[in-house]
Amino acid sequence: MILKLKPKKRSSPIGTPTSGGIQQHRKFIGAHVSASGGVENAPLNAREIGATAFALFTRNQRQWTSKPLTSENIDKFRKNCEELGFTADQILPHDSYLINLGHPVAENRDQSFQAFLDEMQRCEQLGLTLLNFHPGSHLNQISELECLTHIAHSVNRTLEKTTGVTAVIENTAGQGTNLGFRFEHLAEIIDQVEDKSRVGVCIDTCHTFAAGYDFRMEMDFALLMQRFDQIVGFKYLRAMHLNDAKKPFGSRVDRHESLGKGHIGLDAFKLIMKDQRLNGIPLILETPNPEIWPEEIELLRSYSK
Ligand SMILES: [Zn+2]
Ligand SMILES: [Zn+2]
Repeated sequence: MILKLKPKKRSSPIGTPTSGGIQQHRKFIGAHVSASGGVENAPLNAREIGATAFALFTRNQRQWTSKPLTSENIDKFRKNCEELGFTADQILPHDSYLINLGHPVAENRDQSFQAFLDEMQRCEQLGLTLLNFHPGSHLNQISELECLTHIAHSVNRTLEKTTGVTAVIENTAGQGTNLGFRFEHLAEIIDQVEDKSRVGVCIDTCHTFAAGYDFRMEMDFALLMQRFDQIVGFKYLRAMHLNDAKKPFGSRVDRHESLGKGHIGLDAFKLIMKDQRLNGIPLILETPNPEIWPEEIELLRSYSK
C-alpha cells in the first residue's frame, strides 16, 4: 500500500510508507491493548508486552458518544508511535460494539453511521489508516442481502466524508443474527463498496473456526486460504485477530481462548506464522489473559522464524 502524505500534519499517516520496504517481509504481532487514561497510552502498553502491532479503542466502546480527542491526546499518540516505531500499517483501531451499520431500522442505522463516521474521523486525526468493524446484524427483520446492502451503503457514506482510512470488515462467528460469518458475506459487502481501495477484511481465527471453517491441519489450512483468495481475495486482507476458540468447531459461538488452550490448537498458529502472504499486516491477539500476552507474542514470533 502506498501512503500518501498530506500537507496537513494531523491527517497524515503515522510513519513512512512501508510498501516494498523491509517491513513487508515481517510479521507484525501484538494485542488489543488498553487505551485507558488516553489513546496515547496504547503504544506504550504495546511496547510493554513486546508487540510490533497493536489494536485499540479510540473511544469508549460501550457508549454512543465520547468526548473528542484533544490536541494533546493526538500529539502524544503520534509522538509515542513514532518514537516506538509503530507505523499506521501496524495499528488496528476497533470500532464500538454498539454500531450496527446494517440495522433494519433507518433511524438506528443512521445513529450507527454517525458513530462510525466519528470513529473514522478519530482515525484521521490520529494518522491511522485502518478501522476494524463488525459488519452488522439483520435482527431477523430483513434478509441477509438487504442487511449486507445497508452495511455497504453505510460504508460508502463514511468513505465519502473521510480520506485515507480503510474500512476493515471483520468476519464473525455467526452468533445470533450477526452477518459476516461466510466469506461470501464479506465479498458481497466489498462488491457494493464504491471505493475498493479503502475497503478490506480482518480474519479472526476464533470466528472463522466457530463459523465452520477448519484450518487445524496443513491441508485444510491450504484449502481454506485458497478458498478465501477465490471468494474475497488476498489483496483485501488487511489484518488478522489471532485467538484460540473456547467452543468446539462450528459452534457459531464467539468465545476466545488463549493460544493452545482451546479447540484450534497451536499447529494452526504455526501454519499462520509460516505463511508469507500474512506478512506486513497487524496480527492481533484478543486472548482472554493479558498477563501471558508477552509469552504468546514470543511464541508466535518463534514460529515465524
Ligand atoms: Zn472485533
Ligand atoms: Zn470474537
